[in-house]
Amino acid sequence: MSSSKRIPVAVLGATGSVGQRFVQLLADHPWFELAEVLASDRSAGQTYAEATDWRLTADLPAAAGGLEVKDYGAELSSPVVFSALPGEVAEEIEQRMAREGRALFSNTSFHRMTPDVPLLIPEVNPEHAAAIKVQQRNRGWSGFIVTNPNCSAIHLVLALKPLHDAFGVDALAVTTMQAVSGAGYPGVPSLDMIDNVVPFISTEEEKMSEETKKLLGGFDGAFQPADLVMTAHCNRVAVRDGHTECVSIRFKESATPEQAAEVMAKFRARPQELNLPSAPARPVIVRMERNRPQPNLDRDAENGMATTVGRVRECPLLGTKFVLLGHNTIRGAAGASILNAELFKVEGLLPV
Ligand code: NAP
Repeated sequence: MSSSKRIPVAVLGATGSVGQRFVQLLADHPWFELAEVLASDRSAGQTYAEATDWRLTADLPAAAGGLEVKDYGAELSSPVVFSALPGEVAEEIEQRMAREGRALFSNTSFHRMTPDVPLLIPEVNPEHAAAIKVQQRNRGWSGFIVTNPNCSAIHLVLALKPLHDAFGVDALAVTTMQAVSGAGYPGVPSLDMIDNVVPFISTEEEKMSEETKKLLGGFDGAFQPADLVMTAHCNRVAVRDGHTECVSIRFKESATPEQAAEVMAKFRARPQELNLPSAPARPVIVRMERNRPQPNLDRDAENGMATTVGRVRECPLLGTKFVLLGHNTIRGAAGASILNAELFKVEGLLPV
């Protein structure tokens, strides 16, 4: 697609941590062109460069810097909208976008578990996209809302999907060590993080369990959660970007650690078949070193779009255990939404 034919897109919450990732990842996108940026009325009326405390190592894209920040009452022209809004303001604004006929791809938790809203990972459950037809029928909308998972759940489920298909996941326990950027900017106060681990992230453990079951479950006009037992411990640690997770699993069918590692390493799915612009060539990377993955070394694998797994070994309690890691604001947020929109474009589901 030539640059003049790119689809205009808007980003809601564009000045925040996830919003900045959207702006960075959309800067040279072959199919989408960042046309509109929205933030709170604190920022509206300023240029994006003036309103944003840019926190990424890559430079603020020049074209985005000159855009005027709009508030949420403004008339939009973009048919495709990405949302990085705080959960508490997402409901009304996201629903209005869908009612107005736009495709709304949301990072916020508000609509993820709604019975007619797809919670989508293109490698895992692309067939759940069909739920937008149910949503449009139920609500009389010409547009729709599609969500992507919580930043810990998405990396867990990318690793689980090939295992679930091959051996059936019966039960699992996961303990997370989540980066500070997962709480936005400035996020958790520095004096709570230095020399410390915080063993509580509000509603995170519940989200991990319910989202994992929805993602690995079926859709036959309604979502059927996967039949598995799961427990999660979620912790905030003094890492800037990249969530690490220690996972123990019991399979329905027997599997050695070598077999588990092999199916994860060989995993390829719809985005790789379609060669979507943001798709990682390897959605799950299995490393053999005994001290990997590490946030500093592995979070940017495949441009931050892959989940890296290591230390696949026997677990005396549940059978198999391993460590996984993934970037929380790229595959865990903005990159996930953009990949969802790319899948919708190829499937002819965008309103353009
Ligand atoms: P953030 O850094 O706090 O940014 C929030 C954005 O929303 C800013 O653009 C802000 O604009 C705008 N905003 C704040 N209050 C508003 C209001 N009352 N009305 C309209 N806009 C308002 O948050 P974040 O970390 O980017 O997270 C955004 C969403 O993504 C959240 O729902 C979060 O749960 C989700 N998420 C985050 C991550 C992550 O790793 N950080 C991962 C997955 C999902 P101003 O600058 O003008 O205040």
